[in-house]
Amino acid sequence: MLVLVINSGSSSLKYQVRETTTEEVLLSGLVERIGEAEVPDHAAALETVEAHLNRVLGDRAIEAVGHRVVHGGERFTTPVLITHEIVRAIERLAPLAPLHNPAAALGIRALLEKWPKLPQVAVFDTAFHRTLPEHAWRYAVPDDLYKLHGVRRYGFHGTSHDFVTGRAAELLGIERGRFRAVIAHLGNGASVTAIRDGRSIDTSMGYTPLEGLVMGTRSGDLDASIVTQLVIRGEYTAEEMDRILNKDSGLKGLSGDNDMRSVVEAAAEGHDGAELALEVASYRLQKYIGGYHVAVGGAQAIVFTAGIGENSWPFRQRVVDGLGALGVTLDQMSNVERSQEARIISGPDSAIPVLVVPTDEESEIARATEELALAG
Ligand code: ADP
Repeated sequence: MLVLVINSGSSSLKYQVRETTTEEVLLSGLVERIGEAEVPDHAAALETVEAHLNRVLGDRAIEAVGHRVVHGGERFTTPVLITHEIVRAIERLAPLAPLHNPAAALGIRALLEKWPKLPQVAVFDTAFHRTLPEHAWRYAVPDDLYKLHGVRRYGFHGTSHDFVTGRAAELLGIERGRFRAVIAHLGNGASVTAIRDGRSIDTSMGYTPLEGLVMGTRSGDLDASIVTQLVIRGEYTAEEMDRILNKDSGLKGLSGDNDMRSVVEAAAEGHDGAELALEVASYRLQKYIGGYHVAVGGAQAIVFTAGIGENSWPFRQRVVDGLGALGVTLDQMSNVERSQEARIISGPDSAIPVLVVPTDEESEIARATEELALAG
């Protein structure tokens, strides 16, 4: 089936056309500066997309559309066929994802208007984590915060964690329903997920994507009093703290640079801040891996994915070097090998296999879209 995959942001729209039978990507593109003169709105952005489709696909027509939606709240546990009611539900979740959900809804509405007959599917970043047990998704705060304000762990990157879990189980020849693993999705945003019986039972991102690992520009875990104290003392406004923790922290906060390649290079040249950033980031991930190894009842795999996880062998090495207590070792040759294939990088004596598995969120979205379009 020919599926158009859409990732709609407030000022940009990323798209891909995939043939699900062959897994082939027929075309992909990005429309930027939505809201400016040339591309006033998402409907205008779709004109550009349509022109690209016509050029490349000729007579072949798109059969379904899959949308990436960041927040599915507590309601959406699986991908769904989109109706007007579903779009309104996505919009109602805006307080939980103020930057992302309204933008996704704009993209969906524009498509519904342009191609009303095409089946459209929403795939949620949070959905895969709806299997978390309550002790993992609850914060130890008064119940009203949950009941009145939806304060709980939601988790993100679910589409990627789901896809990578399936591929890793396949690579190891373990039935997915019995698979226990720790999956580290390390991109600009980064999260780690505990997999038991093939499902997510804990994940490091929380109420928002700020919690957990040290990321490109996000701090990850910290004492909430840092925020309240600095705001109470009038040192910063709440908005400033929000920006500092989301945009100026993480690798960037410690080293001055948010890109892992530059941080690794700077550390090799003796830059103290870069070295510290790598130490803090790898130590944080080691703690999560150790904790989740316990949570899943003994992991059968530790898996690296996304930009850093797939490409930065020095960072993988730092992380695995700290896992000696788990009996984990690396095979140096496999770790430094440049390859786009899913593979095992641990040594033959490693107590737990360590894997690199390239993620492909679009392929997962296309697959889910086809399934629902055929069923619907
Ligand atoms: P996003 O979360 O935006 O999808 P990606 O998954 O593309 O992010 O990951 C971006 C990160 O991956 C950046 O920190 C970048 O430095 C890192 N990265 C990408 N390619 C390489 C590479 N060849 N070596 C080391 N790091 C890389």
